[in-house]
Amino acid sequence: MKRSSIEESVMSVPSADLARKWLRHYASTEHMAGTRGDLEMAEFTRDKMQEFGLERAKIVPMDALLSYPIERHIEVVSTDDASQRWSPALEEAILEEDPTSGSRFRNLTFLAYAATGQARGEMVYANYGRPEDFEELEKRGIHVAGKIVLVRYGQCFRGLKIMNAQAFNASAVLIFSDPEDDGFGKGKVYPDGPWRPASSVQRGSAQFNSLCAGDPARAASGFDSKSRCGLERDELIPSIPAIPISYEDVTPLLERLGGPEAPHGFQGGLNLTYRLGPSSGWEATVEVNNTREVKPIWNVIAEIPGSLEADEDQPIVIGNHRDAWVFGAADPNSGSAVLLEVARALGKLVRDGWQPKRTIVLASWSGEEFGLLGSTGWGEANAGGLLKRAALYINTDVGVSGDTFYASASPSVGRAILHAAAVVVNPATGRPLLNDWDASLGTLGSGSDYTVFLDHLGIASMDLRFGASNSFTYGVYHSTYDSYTWIEKEADPTFAHHVALTRLIGVLAVRFSSSAVLPISLADHGAALSRYVDHLGELPKAGSLDLSVLRDAVRAYRESAVTAPLDNDLLGAHERLFLAPEGLPQRPWFKHVLQAPGLYLGYDAKVFPGIDQAVSDGDGALAQSLVARYADLLRSAAARVGRPQASSSLPPQ
Ligand code: GLU
Ligand code: ZN
Ligand code: ZN
Repeated sequence: MKRSSIEESVMSVPSADLARKWLRHYASTEHMAGTRGDLEMAEFTRDKMQEFGLERAKIVPMDALLSYPIERHIEVVSTDDASQRWSPALEEAILEEDPTSGSRFRNLTFLAYAATGQARGEMVYANYGRPEDFEELEKRGIHVAGKIVLVRYGQCFRGLKIMNAQAFNASAVLIFSDPEDDGFGKGKVYPDGPWRPASSVQRGSAQFNSLCAGDPARAASGFDSKSRCGLERDELIPSIPAIPISYEDVTPLLERLGGPEAPHGFQGGLNLTYRLGPSSGWEATVEVNNTREVKPIWNVIAEIPGSLEADEDQPIVIGNHRDAWVFGAADPNSGSAVLLEVARALGKLVRDGWQPKRTIVLASWSGEEFGLLGSTGWGEANAGGLLKRAALYINTDVGVSGDTFYASASPSVGRAILHAAAVVVNPATGRPLLNDWDASLGTLGSGSDYTVFLDHLGIASMDLRFGASNSFTYGVYHSTYDSYTWIEKEADPTFAHHVALTRLIGVLAVRFSSSAVLPISLADHGAALSRYVDHLGELPKAGSLDLSVLRDAVRAYRESAVTAPLDNDLLGAHERLFLAPEGLPQRPWFKHVLQAPGLYLGYDAKVFPGIDQAVSDGDGALAQSLVARYADLLRSAAARVGRPQASSSLPPQ
């Protein structure tokens, strides 16, 4: 088949009606990881993929530590008069306009892996729960030790807020959604608009995701967290209770805080003056009972074998998670509907007699919500096999929650996204997607399934989605209202964005799997390296850090990169050149030295994260030694890139 007719086919097959149908099915029932609903959706995904011609689609189960809610309770009591007491409902309201909102999950709001236990004491307010927020409180003489800490969502991964609170000896944490972030401060709230209504709660995992990804215990696989992550299980999940709460429920708690008015950066969107606390005159009790249990979860894996021999093959993996906190219409099943349409488009090509040169793997992950469990387990298990020579991982998680296109990617594959965006029409304007996109590529941090592939295995990765133009998140994130009705009313009524994303991924899959030369640019990666080093030089605390050896090494890499012959072995494996076997300081599982989720960010990336963190910790000696170490690494990379014929000496992939 001619390349143009292959691309034509992958562009014309995706259907809005079918994407709608798949989404309707995925969002028809609750399917939290490890539950019956999750297994049913795994079977549905496998069956559909087989029906589309991907006969090898199969369910690959694995055991993992999960955590489910049994009980949670909050109460505030007046210290003068015990008859004055109040408890928040911790329950999402039933909305007439949304037929699935009566789910029993509406009052199973919880933070997975938060410790079972009870805390009692005064409350304080610590803004986003970042280290600097706790430091600000201590600076003002407000002590967090033994207190129940209220923090708001935003700025960093929720588990890290608890990690930080624990470091300051807090006794429990309540994390609330502030309307400024994703509620009425952004616009009309659901069901009148897309934003978070008053009783809505953001569930989520409370693991410390910047330290390691995947199962925090690994009890079932015969080896422990220490050997996998370099950290004990109890360093990866909370030792204190924590509960997520709505802005409706937090209001009476915030109103009971005394102490000084919170500084400007701590004020949020509620119609009250946020105070730092403590809540003198009022004492709170926080009670949590969450299970921690090892259970099976189910990845679905479908392979389209390539025509190259195994030792020449360079597999392309396309993944999306399937498990959801409740119905998961946007997160993640807008992506799952897209994945099924990609499967159908590729399956049709296969039936028409096409075979890619390189193997394509489609993956529907489970356990993402708990801590990237399925993708990380599968990635680690296949590191020495199928993934040894993998050239690319394409992720889509919340595929569609708005109409603005976003891409984050390894710099070497950014150009390929641009080229694909030139041939896909943007449904919002009818013009090529590229025309309406500022072509800015985000740097991959964490918070979705690309993490093991990029940060642990050194496989170039990308994450693609359509989202809101004015927010990183969206209004019904991790709530019961993330439903089919929300998608249809608020995000993609015609499902045209689902189709556009399917086309984009389809074209990328065809190009990466079948072009004679992999569309990977070492020169683009080199240019990014220069920007990364410049960024280090601009860190406010960089002080006397001497970056000259690193700059020289980057120059050497860039020179080699622009003159390197186009060698697929080198292109497909180049990302591995930036792995350090010892990993990053404090978190050896993260082996990529160029980017990682910030240690205190969790979602957003830092570049040269080891050096960045050492600088921000004021550890000049460590920063300088890492500069030398990474300059060596880049020099070896430059040497390899300059001698691709020696590619057999690339590090073990
Ligand atoms: N996407 C999930 C969340 O944001 C999991 C992220 C992670 O474990 O890194 O809650
Ligand atoms: Zn997700
Ligand atoms: Zn999620």
